[in-house]
Amino acid sequence: MPNDMFLDNLTHTLKERGFGKNNTLVATSLCCDEVNRELEKGLKKTFGDNFSMGGLAGFAFGGVTSFCAMAHHIPTNGNCLVIFGPHVGVDADGVVGKVNRRGRAHSGACCGSAAAAASYVSSVRKGVSKVSDNPTDPLDAQQTYVGNMLLPYGTRLALAIDPAVELPISLYDAQKALIDKIVSKGCGEVGGDGKIALLGGIQINTPPGTPDYFLPMSFELLDNKGNKLANMIGTLRMNRSNEDLYALIALGMFAATLFYVM
Ligand SMILES: [Zn+2]
Repeated sequence: MPNDMFLDNLTHTLKERGFGKNNTLVATSLCCDEVNRELEKGLKKTFGDNFSMGGLAGFAFGGVTSFCAMAHHIPTNGNCLVIFGPHVGVDADGVVGKVNRRGRAHSGACCGSAAAAASYVSSVRKGVSKVSDNPTDPLDAQQTYVGNMLLPYGTRLALAIDPAVELPISLYDAQKALIDKIVSKGCGEVGGDGKIALLGGIQINTPPGTPDYFLPMSFELLDNKGNKLANMIGTLRMNRSNEDLYALIALGMFAATLFYVM
């Protein structure tokens, strides 16, 4: 859905759970690429400046240390929203994996880090390249990790009907596994009765002048012991101007399910 609608649904859902501007700190883990700042600007309007945990391709390279630091910045008795995910461009010709950028004649790779990682994974699978050792030098450490964290998804990418579409989905799964470990280890640093809203999805970047989109993939409410209190993903997939229509569709789907069961 367009970012505006997504942010509207997100704000509405969080407000119902007691997350407001004055008691919520937003932490993002989104790729370094400048096309991803648009979503942060939208979040900033509601919740103020965000803490940044992310690095290349959107992986939370800030790790446990960044989560714990962020937790110590939450307003007293407040909550945090952690939003993470990869991104993928769609250019003016509808090509997935590319985007038109300001001042450039032709569209280019988006996400570039993801494309480089996919190329590395393919090369390893063909036996052309060896698996890179985990880096001991910071020179290009993040990209090496992105490539290696994508490696387990090589078969999915190779078998995909459209690898450009599969790439952000595989990256989302890899990032979800990482952020779950980080939150599990650091959640105790959220003070008082503070809650963690953990939201993952895929950003879809579009050419200048058109709205970006966000595809929510998971949205969980956790306490500071790591217990899952609620699954809120359904609230983000609703067009609030069509709530009645969605209720009818949901009812129809339920009736159809009953029909097949019977
Ligand atoms: Zn990127």
